[in-house]
Amino acid sequence: MTHPSLLADVPGDPPGQVCAHVHLLVDTRALDRPLDYVIPDGLIAAVDVGSLVVCPLGPRRVVGVVVGIGAPTHTGRLVAIVGRVEAPSIPDDLRALADWVARYYAAPVASCLRLVVPPGAEGALRRRADGTWRIAVPASAPKRPLVVRRVVEGPEPSRRQREIITAIPEGTQIAAAELCRAAGTTMDTLRRMADRGLITLDADTETPRDVHGLGMPVPPAPQALNSDQQAAITRILSALTEHPPPGLLLHGVTGSGKTEVYLHALNAVRREGKGAIVLVPEISLTPQLLSRLRARLGDGVEVWHSNMSVAERAQVDARLRAGDADVVVGARSAVFAPVANLGLIVIDEEHDASYKQDSTPRYDARQVAFRRARGAGALVIYGTATPRPETWHALEHVRLRTRADGSQPPGVRVVDMRTQGPGPVSTPLGRALRDASDRGNKAVLLLNRRGFALMSLCRACGWLAKCPSCDVSLVQHQDPIRLGCHHCGFETSVPAVCPACGSSELQRGGVGTQGLEHALHKLVPDMRLVRLDASSTATRGSVAELLQEFARPGPAILLGTQMVAKGHDLPEVTVAAVLDADAGLRYPDFRAEERVFDLIVQTAGRAGRRGEDSVVIVQAWEPAARAIQLASRLAVDEFLNGEIARRSEYLMPPFGHLVRVLIDGGDGTQVVQIARDLADLIANGTTPVTVLGPAPLHRLRGRSRRAILVRGDGVADARMAAVAAVAQISAAARGQDIRMVIDVDPQTT
Ligand code: ADP
Ligand code: ZN
Ligand code: ZN
Repeated sequence: MTHPSLLADVPGDPPGQVCAHVHLLVDTRALDRPLDYVIPDGLIAAVDVGSLVVCPLGPRRVVGVVVGIGAPTHTGRLVAIVGRVEAPSIPDDLRALADWVARYYAAPVASCLRLVVPPGAEGALRRRADGTWRIAVPASAPKRPLVVRRVVEGPEPSRRQREIITAIPEGTQIAAAELCRAAGTTMDTLRRMADRGLITLDADTETPRDVHGLGMPVPPAPQALNSDQQAAITRILSALTEHPPPGLLLHGVTGSGKTEVYLHALNAVRREGKGAIVLVPEISLTPQLLSRLRARLGDGVEVWHSNMSVAERAQVDARLRAGDADVVVGARSAVFAPVANLGLIVIDEEHDASYKQDSTPRYDARQVAFRRARGAGALVIYGTATPRPETWHALEHVRLRTRADGSQPPGVRVVDMRTQGPGPVSTPLGRALRDASDRGNKAVLLLNRRGFALMSLCRACGWLAKCPSCDVSLVQHQDPIRLGCHHCGFETSVPAVCPACGSSELQRGGVGTQGLEHALHKLVPDMRLVRLDASSTATRGSVAELLQEFARPGPAILLGTQMVAKGHDLPEVTVAAVLDADAGLRYPDFRAEERVFDLIVQTAGRAGRRGEDSVVIVQAWEPAARAIQLASRLAVDEFLNGEIARRSEYLMPPFGHLVRVLIDGGDGTQVVQIARDLADLIANGTTPVTVLGPAPLHRLRGRSRRAILVRGDGVADARMAAVAAVAQISAAARGQDIRMVIDVDPQTT
């Protein structure tokens, strides 16, 4: 599009002095504003608001987004844009959304524009012979798992190595992860054997990968919807056609058939020729939802996945812009997908903490979705069995009160661990597991700690193995045996004697997922154990692959961190248990109870999903705690009403707004001082806010940390107070090793 009118309308400008206001995609704070660039005559026709252009910045050439076209904002000499990037323009609504994110979350505009520019926009710039610029999208292949093959003639293996080689099928390949399991060995051993030429170990280029879990079993479409589902769909359809509310809470107990409701809403939107976005907490953790949407919605459904290569994402992006696809399913960043003519956003498991990004820009996809939908006249459905108090308070409720198949949810039994013997598995849970084993059933066990044992503690002097740079205790991992830090990845060997006093009485306290696996192996040897946590998905296979292994016929236990509670719909699960239910209550976070409550209700929801006779066991050291008692009765309304009352009393969200300031630095004394100065400055400022803290946080990667919480009646007050104080203190601390980060609507406090 050209701008002849603009050219004519700018009075007094010398000819050709129409310029582009360009926001460069650079991280320099001082450049967090649009700069003026001359549009050369040859580019007037090609450059418009939303275009990606290449601009000189000193000696560099950088990509920027045109955010306006008009008269120069100052009288200095202007340099010219050097080219237009051959990439789709950013639509107006997404540019406005990025702008809003920048203002709401007090983030640099460039960091927010990056959320809406086409994938790879910051790849290497290449200049074509005709003078246009394009971004070279790296043709990186998706990550592939390693596979092992036998070699025809290799060196003489040892006896142990021969055993491993025998476990490799002849004439074909085996996944390295599977071989580790089958032969009871480790990746390290396989690597050493490959280095010696005993086997080959390469990326699998043969097997098409099922990272998206499209091979997961898909339940058939139900014959008929139940009355709650029908009522929910009726309400949603009227909301879609009339003036949309912009958000509805779809509050359905676990197994109530929320997906069926989403599917009807999605189909209705598509029939109107509109597009939709389905957000899931983490796509690789919920392969089933994806396979169900794909199977039931057919063509035009795209996946937006962080594991996709830039080239793959660029393809999805292009199909959405071209209208060849109208539904995109993805994790939080998919809320920015260039879906044209947006009619609906579904947020599944809306309570999940992963909707908040914990790096700049610290946006909350739930909030961004609301904003985007309001602008587009679209509807957002927030679906969950355990709504957040914020959502519960703000939105109209649409309810699914019963399980879809009419079955009763299993009863929950709370086990007081103070009355139990040593070991991670209580007597009632042990009994339930042996029973499930005998009947060929399955179990889902949640233990929110990775690793083998929680820590190494000296009984003689109290020495505790700690990370040298994070001040947290190290966690012991088996296979290979080592101590590791879950924050920074530091690793060290397990000491044989106490490094402080030389005593050999080192005790392992607590138990992690690996330790539990070990205990279960002894307790129920006939049950297949599938461990699902960040360590196992890094080494043993994708979540989809592990879930498929669990779903195979025969008795099995799925054990792991909160990943096991994520909405999986698997048959034959007759035991569900939370092993350290109250561990989360010890965090000094005002959402601690809410998290514990959600985790128990969600885990309980994994059992008896086909009406099987089931038990749910909650092991706790503080069985009387409110969150545990209410969760065990699945008393969601009562819990939420209590939370709302409590939060209203303390003016916590949704009755007030929080902004958190994180301060970190290399010098502990300085960090403490600056945090105090900051808190004083905010407290004594003119904006009506309350300051909580500074609170100490454990050291991380060698840096001391403090946090301040600013509470205001409105988000604007809290944000303004924090931003102004941070600006003032950073100016004073310029050149020093201090960082300050602002987190609006923090999810960790
Ligand atoms: P939720 O997401 O609410 O936990 P799902 O959507 O996974 O529940 O549905 C749970 C199970 O119930 C699925 O296997 C689904 O196919 C089945 N289902 C859904 N609606 C019905 C219905 N009306 N009648 C019978 N089964 C249904
Ligand atoms: Zn000691
Ligand atoms: Zn560490």
